[in-house]
Amino acid sequence: MKQLAIIPGDGIGKEVIAAGMEVLDAVSEISSFQFEPEYVNIGSDRYLETGELLTDEDIKLLKSKDAIYFGAIGDPRVKPGVLEQGILLKMRAVFDQYINLRPVTSWFPLVPLKREVDFDIHFLRENTEDFYMGANGFFGPNNGGNKAHVHVKRELYDLDIDLEAKASNDDDFAFEIGLLSKKAVTRFADYACRYALARGDKKVTLVDKANVITTNYGMQRQIFQEKTKEYGLDLEFMFVDAMAMAMIVRPETFGTVAVPNLFGDILTDLGAQLQGGLGMGGSGNINPEGVSMFEPIHGSAPDIAGQGKANPIAAILAAQMLLENQGFPEEGRMLHDAVRKSLDTNMTTPDLGGKLKTAEVGKHIADYVRSQKN
Ligand code: ATP
Repeated sequence: MKQLAIIPGDGIGKEVIAAGMEVLDAVSEISSFQFEPEYVNIGSDRYLETGELLTDEDIKLLKSKDAIYFGAIGDPRVKPGVLEQGILLKMRAVFDQYINLRPVTSWFPLVPLKREVDFDIHFLRENTEDFYMGANGFFGPNNGGNKAHVHVKRELYDLDIDLEAKASNDDDFAFEIGLLSKKAVTRFADYACRYALARGDKKVTLVDKANVITTNYGMQRQIFQEKTKEYGLDLEFMFVDAMAMAMIVRPETFGTVAVPNLFGDILTDLGAQLQGGLGMGGSGNINPEGVSMFEPIHGSAPDIAGQGKANPIAAILAAQMLLENQGFPEEGRMLHDAVRKSLDTNMTTPDLGGKLKTAEVGKHIADYVRSQKN
């Protein structure tokens, strides 16, 4: 019996998670996947009422679960960044969800490519380091003096970095340090290899810019070389600029793709459009040894919230990822097939050219799942 925390959150998050839950219920009716959901009220409504974002009590509760199914957060009444920092980013940090998993699948006819070709790229983005670890600051005569100190505390280490300009310096500076630790790259490479093997891929593609950012990505290459050798996998190196082009020209040649944080942010958004837009993307924030969280890649979309217009497929694909992560690949595959069927028969919401409401698409997909009972 899997214990799931359900956080519908804000805006269309509530609607798409309701549809996703109907589909998960259908899966549990016809398969060995059994679960107990516990709804957790985290999001803008509670924040506006009580000022609470992610409390110690929330964390304790979520820690006791097998996985988290999350809708979206965001609210025009709350200053941008408050909910994202205080809930989403905090959750990723507290649970050390160090991998962001984003599949990019050829959902034709939504794919904006002329050539109809099957692809299924699985991006694994490192989620904790690189240029996104918040090691930044300013220095200079008009910026607090010619010295700067950076302190970074992470699960794996505690870092202090000092920067000092010449005494004669009369210029002001801003900096952002991109740092990779051997431990974090090693666990990332290890997960990428295990993921590739589980998918049946023979190679891992590692994206970087090792010709310019030589130290960080040089070390990363070496670690990936060792790990892929250990697991008997091939390793392909791609510079990020070449990768952006290759995703358009030959997306079918990629399977498991490992990307550092900053480049991963950009490439996965390119991937989201390549596969058919925000409504088609699921995402996993994974801690292979801990509690992982699965969510649609879109936000709370306040402009269409409460109108039944939201496309629930991204949330349903996030449920598929949750199933696969929890050891139910066949059940996951069923959701994938059900989504394919709803596209083929135009049983979709208006953003995909259909006429159905969010709940109707959910019901259609749930009914398809039920019909698969053998
Ligand atoms: P947030 O601040 O929570 O990120 P947002 O509106 O800025 O919300 P998104 O929710 O990611 O950003 O989406 C941008 C736009 O795309 C929305 O305003 C909406 O019109 C459209 N959109 C997003 N998700 C969906 C969906 N599931 N179904 C239909 N349209 C969607």
